[in-house]
Amino acid sequence: NADVPEAAPSPSSAVDGAGGDADADMTEKPVKIGFAMDTLVEERWLKDRDLFRESVEALGAEVEISASNGDDAVQIMQAESMISAGIDLLVIVPHNAEATAAIVKKAHSSGVKVIAYDRLVKNAEIDLYVSFDNVRVGELQAQAITKLVPKGKYVYIGGAETDNNAHLFKDGVFNVLQPMIDSGDITVVYDQWTTDWTPANARANMEEALRANNNQIDAVIAANDATAGGVIAALEAQGLAGRIPVAGQDADLAAAQRIVGGTQTMTVYKPIHTLTLKAAELAVMMAKGEIPDTDRKVNNGKIEVPSVLLAPISVDKSNMDATIIADGFHAKEDVYRHA
Ligand code: BGC
Repeated sequence: NADVPEAAPSPSSAVDGAGGDADADMTEKPVKIGFAMDTLVEERWLKDRDLFRESVEALGAEVEISASNGDDAVQIMQAESMISAGIDLLVIVPHNAEATAAIVKKAHSSGVKVIAYDRLVKNAEIDLYVSFDNVRVGELQAQAITKLVPKGKYVYIGGAETDNNAHLFKDGVFNVLQPMIDSGDITVVYDQWTTDWTPANARANMEEALRANNNQIDAVIAANDATAGGVIAALEAQGLAGRIPVAGQDADLAAAQRIVGGTQTMTVYKPIHTLTLKAAELAVMMAKGEIPDTDRKVNNGKIEVPSVLLAPISVDKSNMDATIIADGFHAKEDVYRHA
């Protein structure tokens, strides 16, 4: 390639242009990223928080982090105060997919770009969406469970209706179930959202499903491991834990323990470190005014949002060691502690 030797002098020529001045500014004032989180209740979010900080700092940038504990008004206030304090870019994990659109408007009016992290913001001109392929998460759950239970009565315990991901997970599950429902092999006898994703609400829903069906349930798909924990507690109370397949998501330590112990069938493992590295890299790039190359687009009701969607991984007893443990997501002695 004849162009290659010519490429060498170009970095020096960039230095005397406007780019040189911008570089000089960067070295004086590091880029500052705001990370407006929702909850820290589910175990994964602590990893998101710590690994995102680490990933941003490794790029020489600074990060300010807030968490709103499921309160929309608090999340909006926290994001606004970071914008007023002069962050260069906002990364947000919306509690409420719709309510957070107000933050995007406010950020843009201050010249601050916004990245939706893990969860999409709906009906807003969000600049980028970085997450896992959440429809795929639901498909992986339903594929694993239908392999074990190709016919019978299914219960679907959904996530929080206010979280866009809960809808995507459910879409994925029904992508797999629908043909089997149509053929009459599978009946979904109970299908309910779980307010704020809490195990207690999931447990109450599962108790209702069991009562309404005289305990005649063949399989349960729960939207995450927290709700799966509530489901399994309800099954335990009826002496049914370990006898009815249950799917979850997140690779929480408690879920990994239930999988090796036999009360939960599978989880969907989402390597959080990969997400934080990708989000941090894109956030710092965009904060410096660069436009990243993205291959996916996701419609959020207003625009086609440039998106990066990472691959989730299906985990059961058979590949626990090769995935969650091999990655160091959990230590082997912790996973097998009660097994
Ligand atoms: C996340 C899940 C998490 C759930 C509850 C979803 O948006 O994708 O990983 O379990 O929220 O926090």
